[in-house]
Amino acid sequence: MELIPVTKTVEVAKIEEVIEYGINIIGENRVQELEKKMDVLGPGIDYHMIGHLQSNKVKYIADKVKLIHSLDRESLIKEIEKQGRKNNTVMDVLVQVNVAEEKSKHGLKTEQVVPFIEKVLSYDYINIKGLMTIAPHVDDEKYLRKIFRTMYELKEDILRRNYNGLSMDYLSMGMTNDYKIAIEEGSNMVRIGRGIFGERNY
Ligand SMILES: *Cc1c(COP(=O)(O)O)cnc(C)c1O
Repeated sequence: MELIPVTKTVEVAKIEEVIEYGINIIGENRVQELEKKMDVLGPGIDYHMIGHLQSNKVKYIADKVKLIHSLDRESLIKEIEKQGRKNNTVMDVLVQVNVAEEKSKHGLKTEQVVPFIEKVLSYDYINIKGLMTIAPHVDDEKYLRKIFRTMYELKEDILRRNYNGLSMDYLSMGMTNDYKIAIEEGSNMVRIGRGIFGERNY
């Protein structure tokens, strides 16, 4: 199980406190904030880009982040490939899935994922490491379970197809409100913000 502490809006001093406790991974959802924190906190930490990523910003983070959780469209594939080629580094990514098809969220529909992955497989500088989802913000446990289970089954389905070189190591799902359910349904990477740092004041 990997825990990604989500540090968006959290000030650096507070992040340094958790780093002293041995945390060496952080997740951010905005490129600008991620860059700022990488500047101050330096190397030695694995930086995860967990939020929606604009193609024109890939160049700022491509050779610095450990994992991009939000690959969801072809224009982004092309840009990551371009930057990877330039830096000669293969970028590890997760494919973001919008299982509930919420208008407010990014990500592919469940049935789009397999053809999308098949497309990515022909690129040289992108390595798919698994799937990511942000579940709807609801209390309905049964419904959430269904969402997470759909993700798990999708991952298993992809594994059964035995694509060359595709290992699907990570299922990034579960946040402060729903991580217990997500873990029970097969998550092995949870992204926790408020549960670690307290409520955010935007
Ligand atoms: C903010 C955020 C989280 C963490 O949410 P919490 O409710 O604070 O745990 C996880 N994933 C993404 C993509 C986020 O933007």
